[in-house]
This record gives sequence, C-alpha cells and structure tokens, in this order.
Amino acid sequence: MNTQNHRIEGTQKLIYYNNSPDTLSKVYYHLYFNAFQPGSMMDVRSRNIADPDPRVRDRILHLKEDEIGYQRIVSLKQDGKPLTYIVNGTILEVTLAKPMMPRTKSTFDMIFESQVPLQIRRSGRNNREGISYSMTQWFPKIAEYDFQGWHAYQYVAREFHGVWGDFNVKITIDPSFMVAATGKLQNPETIGHGYEKAGTIVKRPAGNLTWHFVARDVIDFAWVADPDYTHEKQQVPDGPELHFFYQKNEKTATTWKNMQDVAVKVFQHLNVNFGKYPFDTYSIIQGGDGGMEYPMCTLILGEGSQSGLNGVMAHEVAHSWYQMTLASNEALYAWMDEGFADFSSEEALNAIFNEPNNHAGSYASYFSLVNSGLQEPASQHSDHFNTNRAYGTAAYSIGAVFLQQLKYIIGEDVFYRGMKRYYNTWKMKHPEPNDFLRVMEKESGLQLHWYYRYWIQTTKRIDYSIGNMVEKDGNTLVELLRISEFPMPVDLVVTFKDGTKEMYYIPTSEMMGKKLIENKSLKQTDLPAWPWVHPTYAIRIGRKMSEIESVEIDPSLRMADINRKNNKVIISEIKPYKEPTR
Ligand SMILES: [Zn+2]
Repeated sequence: MNTQNHRIEGTQKLIYYNNSPDTLSKVYYHLYFNAFQPGSMMDVRSRNIADPDPRVRDRILHLKEDEIGYQRIVSLKQDGKPLTYIVNGTILEVTLAKPMMPRTKSTFDMIFESQVPLQIRRSGRNNREGISYSMTQWFPKIAEYDFQGWHAYQYVAREFHGVWGDFNVKITIDPSFMVAATGKLQNPETIGHGYEKAGTIVKRPAGNLTWHFVARDVIDFAWVADPDYTHEKQQVPDGPELHFFYQKNEKTATTWKNMQDVAVKVFQHLNVNFGKYPFDTYSIIQGGDGGMEYPMCTLILGEGSQSGLNGVMAHEVAHSWYQMTLASNEALYAWMDEGFADFSSEEALNAIFNEPNNHAGSYASYFSLVNSGLQEPASQHSDHFNTNRAYGTAAYSIGAVFLQQLKYIIGEDVFYRGMKRYYNTWKMKHPEPNDFLRVMEKESGLQLHWYYRYWIQTTKRIDYSIGNMVEKDGNTLVELLRISEFPMPVDLVVTFKDGTKEMYYIPTSEMMGKKLIENKSLKQTDLPAWPWVHPTYAIRIGRKMSEIESVEIDPSLRMADINRKNNKVIISEIKPYKEPTR
C-alpha cells in the first residue's frame, strides 16, 4: 500500500476448488473499485433512481483521475499458463486455459494494481470522519458459482455474495498506520499497536511494516488503516475477544466507552438465543460511511449519538450470524440477511435496555411502505428494486416482520428453538429460503411455504376484521371476516366483564396443524382450521353478549394486519340494532 498515491500493488494466489458437479470453462472475479469511475453502472444507476442514496448521488461523476477507483489486472495465470480475460465494468470474465472438471482444483496467480477511490460508498479513502483507508471490496474477488450458476453481478449499490475460503493476507504499509482487519494478526510481537500481549517488548523492523492476518471459513476480507486510532479490547465471557478502533476525541470518548459494554452484552444475548459465534475475535472499527458488515469485523461511523452508535453496532454484530456465518445470497435474499440481522439485534437491545420486544418500528415502516404504493415483492433481486425505499423496507423491515410474524404462526418457544436449529444446521453452507423453511417446518410440525410465498414473493396484504355479533340461546355468535387475500391463523381474545379472558385459536388450512398453546395462563379453545378460500368464519362463545367486554384479533400485534382499526370490538360501543323502517 502506497500511502502517497493511494495505490496498491497486489499479488494474489487463489487455490480454487470446483466443488460443483459441472465443468467450468470460465471463472469470474469482482472488480468493485471500478464502480467508482464516471459513467460506471453504479454512477448511472445513482443518477437515474428516483430516491438516490445521499452518499452517492452524482458524486462518482465528479471524481478526478487521481480520485477514481480502479483494479487493473497486470497478469493472470492458471496453473502457470497465461489466461485471456475481458474487463466488463466491475466484472472480470476469464476464459480458462484448461476447463476445470468437477471436484478438481486450479491455482490462479494474479498481479493487480488498484487505486483507492475517494470514499463514495462503503470503501475508499478519507471518509467523512477522517479515517484514512476503509479497505473493503478492495481486491479482485472470485465470484460465487452454485446450483443457480455464476453470481457475477455488476456492483451498482447494494448487497454482496461470496465464496467460502481461507484467507492468508499480508499488508505492507507505512509504519505510522494502525491496521484493523478480518482475521487474527499472526505477528503481534513485531507489530505492536496494542495487538501484543501485555508486557511484551515489541521489536519492529525498520521501514514499512508488514501485517500478517489469517482468517479461515470466511466469505470476504476487509481491513482499515489510520494513523490516529486508539485500540482497546474487551473479552466477551465465553465468547470472542472484542477489539475497538476509533479516533478518540470529544465526540467519541464517552460514547465508545459505553458502547463497548453494550457490545459485550449483544454478543452474549445472540450467543444464547441464536447460536454461538464461531470465531475467537471480532473488531468494531470506526470507518466506512454508516455501518457495514464484514467477517470478524465491522466498519461504522463513530461520531453519532449513543443510541445511534449502539444501534448500528448491534445491527452489524448480528450480521456475524446472518451473513458471516450463514451467508445466504444477500443479493437474492436480502431479507434473510438484513431482516434477520435487524430482528436479532433489536431483540438483543430490547433485552439489554428492558424495552418491549415488539419490533414496532419494523411494522411501522412496512405499513408506511404499503401506504406509499411503492412496495415490491421482497423476493426481488436487491439491485433491481425500483426505489431505494422499496428495497430498504423489503430487506430490513419486511425481513424482520417475517420473523416476528412467524413467532405468531408457530409459537414463541418453537420459534427460538427453530432459529438455533437453523443456525447450527446451516452455518457455513449458504442456506436458501427453502432451507430455513424446512428447519422451521420440522421444528413446528407445520406447513410454512404458503407463508413464505405470500409474504416474500407477493405484495398481498393481511386484513382481518370482526363482523357481526349476535346473541342466540344464551351464546354469542361472532363473525370474522378475511377482507384481504392473505390467509393467516387468528388469535381471538375475548375479555369478559368479570375480568377473565379466553383465547379462541383458529389455524389456517394451509398450516396443516396448529401451534402449541403460547400462554398457558389463558383458557384456550382450539377451533377447526379456517379454509383459506372462505371469506368468513363463525365462532360461538358460550356466554351472553351482555357478559362480554370486548373481542380482539391478535392483541399481541404480531400479525401485520394493514387495518388494525377493525380488529377489536368493545361491546358497549356497538350501536343498538334497529329494524329498518319500511
Ligand atoms: Zn445490515
């Protein structure tokens, strides 16, 4: 790394295993830095989308020659034989000298040169808080090939996908810079900078320092360098050692100290409730342009409010579960990544700060998107949503509501058991939506693909309502209405004037079963399934209407019913029925 002209001279040895049943005649690499050039697809996309990311807008268009990013391939060989390739924007398309047969390996030797762009989005130099180098998406990176073929998407803004691998990285840089990175530093005693064991004498060589990091079973490698970092550590009990890198000043000194304690508790909560973090180190690094997750580290802006800092830290930490360990294809299934990370980090913060665990913010943002008319199915490829708003709400909020609402469908205890089983079954295996659903189906004994299809693959809405209520022979008949297309099970809670409550539970026919009783202190009547084609359903309550205070659909507010106003009837507020005058 040349810190004078911000350029890298890199060599890369990639031992690539073709674990597929297919013969490969080509391979593809990502060249992400090429996005930061006037006229790139990322630039054009940002200048044409209705609601551009304020961090990007038209800033790429105005980059000067020495401010743009690039990755240039100087040479590339497969097992010693030179290769032909073409550069297509942010994708390098390589024709192999010798096709790779199934279950064989090749060694690709590459020499490349990069220029680190001025920070526009995620990676780059001189971020707005003065961090010198945020080195993410910084090396030519092999694309993922799986049962759907190559995932060699042009980089235009949003999500990533990567190949599982072991990284062995040496970074040579001016010795005044402190480096933080994915993986574990192998030579702390010659580097120092707070990595050395307490009490050891650091023996630095003269001149530039070479930092040696190793990370196994990861999908990416990120690093950051700045001369003004403070490096602090905290140990998570029964968890990783946490490293914090930030520029200590009046804007950060207090908030970062407080945030460190919260970070320890977030790791503890996620370890207990969602499965164990698999690595022994994690770094929270001031850098980048907001918050972005990488294996064993995150880059976050550092000068904001305490709650903002805690929130972004917790979200990025949760990505260590829902991306860095499971690593679903987040370009195709951002909801499994952003949504699950939002959900689990919210749960951790709610537990730490004693807040109600209702995910109300995620529901509010979903309802707001529905009202805007901009909603698209969450199954859309991340890059191809029409607006940033529709993408953001689909990925983060609709993804989080997917899980909170799943709790409603299968029951809370079964849900948490399923989340851990999913993690332990699929870690380091790139799970697909079907893999998640199958685990949850096995754990709950219920059919769930209908829920996935409606919630993720369509924009159909949920709207249940209480219809007519009449008294007959000392019983009260309650009519329920399914107003919109989306079928759901119904929890109906009846409150009597004597202060008692009863639950009437109606599964939907699609579930082929029912959830276990969630609240054992509430008397529950399990009713036959509501066939999904039926618009109405009738319930008989064995008491007079005059004894009933209210009836309410889903008082837990976990069902994303777009009109909650018609979910509750207070009997005293019903207008008396009058015979129509003839
Ligand atoms: Zn995220």
